[in-house]
Amino acid sequence: MTTVRRDLGAIVVAAGRSTRMGGTTPKVWLPYRGEPLLVSSLRTIAAVESLAAVVLVVREEELARAEALRPSLPAPLRERLHVVAGGRERSDSVRCGLAALAAAAPSIVLVHDAARPNASRSLFERVAAAAREHGAAVPGLPIVDTLRRRSADGRSATVDRSGLHAVQTPQGFARELLERAHAQPADAAATTDDAMLVEALGAPIAWVDGEAANLKVTLPADLELAARLAGGATMERRVGLGHDLHRLAPGGPLRLGGVDLAGDVHAVGHSDGDALLHAVTDALLGACALGDIGTHFSDKAAENRGRDSAEFLRHAIALAAQRGFAPLQVDVVVRLEKPKLAPHRAALVARLAELLGLPLDAVSIKAKTAEGVDAIGEGRALACDAVVQMGRS
Ligand code: MG
Repeated sequence: MTTVRRDLGAIVVAAGRSTRMGGTTPKVWLPYRGEPLLVSSLRTIAAVESLAAVVLVVREEELARAEALRPSLPAPLRERLHVVAGGRERSDSVRCGLAALAAAAPSIVLVHDAARPNASRSLFERVAAAAREHGAAVPGLPIVDTLRRRSADGRSATVDRSGLHAVQTPQGFARELLERAHAQPADAAATTDDAMLVEALGAPIAWVDGEAANLKVTLPADLELAARLAGGATMERRVGLGHDLHRLAPGGPLRLGGVDLAGDVHAVGHSDGDALLHAVTDALLGACALGDIGTHFSDKAAENRGRDSAEFLRHAIALAAQRGFAPLQVDVVVRLEKPKLAPHRAALVARLAELLGLPLDAVSIKAKTAEGVDAIGEGRALACDAVVQMGRS
């Protein structure tokens, strides 16, 4: 097993006065996709490999409010997050962040503006990799619009755009280099990013391809645009696999997919023996790395005897929802000699769609017999396999 080297620190700057947004709420606290805007990049950073510590820099008067976010953040981040007060200008705030990183002493520091909620995990990791290699790296996108400078007297002149890039964050630096850059005298009000200060030291800066969706929320209308750009593009998708087998015994009905199928066999089990719902529950838990059905419901516990397996599935859906995941799609294969599934298929699909909160066309149940061979073929058992796709946006 390889150990991840935790050489990364991140500073999320959220202490701006956001004068261009109007209103009284600083923009990083405006609601974005159901949470304060600044939470969006924290969640992304939480998934970045090699992370040793994260510093969230907010305005002094927002310290308690920021601290209150901690319980809702993903576990690894909760433990590695420092919330500190920033300074008057952006560069003052970055210096406060650097001071808070001193104990963790990461060799690489990523500095990110909280007002860019859509920077992807891939972008953080690519910037980190380039900073490890070159000492300093910034993401940028080539300017494609024609640029024209307007002067006060109404005249204008076209600016040669060749080589011009729009620079984004996160920006990545060797910590020692960033500390030196921030230690030199500079016009703080005119310093709009960290790369400017590093350039002033004469240090080379590597380029990383930026992301069009990584816009900086500056005006109120940008929030909606950012959310639209985030749309499906940043939805995290997971796939989970589930399997279950139950013995069959004489006497119907057979509980399958939450439906009682008429016939002359039933499934033997501690609960209601619903192999289909057990397989789907395991697939759903698997997609979110939440263990399996046995982790959450013991087959020794008295309260689970004869229990409706729909409750297991509902509980798994609730656990996944706590992590922000919801089912997108399910595909199930039932391996069963008899009764024939075809007459019941529509009812099974409808019930599973209802339980998962999915449209009918996102739920598939297929049936296979075992051609008379093995325990399934001999009618002594049935088995189910399920694949579930989960999404988190
Ligand atoms: Mg089972």
